[in-house]
Amino acid sequence: MKLFDPHIHMTSRTTDDYKAMAAAGIRAIIEPAFWLGQPRTHVGTFDDYFAALVGWERFRASQFGIKHYTTMALNPKEANNPKVADGVLALLPRYLVKEGVVAVGEIGYDDQTEAEEKYFAAQLELAKKFDLPVLVHTPHRDKKRGTERSLALVREVGIDEGRVLIDHNNEETLPLVLKTACWAGHSIYPDTKMDEARMVALVKKYGTERIVVNSAADWGVSDPLKVPKTALEMKKAGISDRDVETIVWKNPIAFFGQTGRIDEAELGGAHFDQAELFEGNSVLRGQSPEKR
Ligand SMILES: [Zn+2]
Repeated sequence: MKLFDPHIHMTSRTTDDYKAMAAAGIRAIIEPAFWLGQPRTHVGTFDDYFAALVGWERFRASQFGIKHYTTMALNPKEANNPKVADGVLALLPRYLVKEGVVAVGEIGYDDQTEAEEKYFAAQLELAKKFDLPVLVHTPHRDKKRGTERSLALVREVGIDEGRVLIDHNNEETLPLVLKTACWAGHSIYPDTKMDEARMVALVKKYGTERIVVNSAADWGVSDPLKVPKTALEMKKAGISDRDVETIVWKNPIAFFGQTGRIDEAELGGAHFDQAELFEGNSVLRGQSPEKR
């Protein structure tokens, strides 16, 4: 079965991860722009980061047979940093038109501050203007209230709910999202927040419509193989292959394909040629290039 991980931060992962992901069936990924752990001190570092997401990282994934897409935004946490917030917003229009950019995101609430709300709303407007879907991060603290506020803001701004994916849901927030026309993402983490067994229970209870699963793997304790592991647990629990495929392949393509920037026919081949270069660089360190 082909798999799509629609939320993973590969910039902080290794080539071993790419190899393991490809071997487990992952053929396409989406890397949302986000916070890097180390707070940024000037806008220029966002510019280079965004350029790497549509450039080097996209190339690096291709060298392992994985199609890489990205979403662009000022992340919720750094919306609180007045040294960079307005500058990043001014930078975004240049990136939102690029090939491989399939949404505005991740935006939303972190600490649920006024600054976060201001830039969340501004970026929902940007998504409307650029006719792009939206990836909304929900906070880890006070998640229920953060989700309710996010859904209310989506309504207030008047963006089409079918183009909004509310991410990092749990048992408490999923019913709130499904009451709207928004899509619902679930990040499967090692040990905390949401795991494979709980995801299986949610699918058994609510079905597959507008349901998406991702690893949200990044520079913290996380697992880039959570999508294949969750697909396996769903099958073991008796969920049909067709339903599993809907969640781990068809749904992310349907949602992010609303941009017209995902061609399903281009996905799944796992072809690559490591003799290729990106601005003179390859992923190799003297090894013979592999090709498939
Ligand atoms: Zn993320």
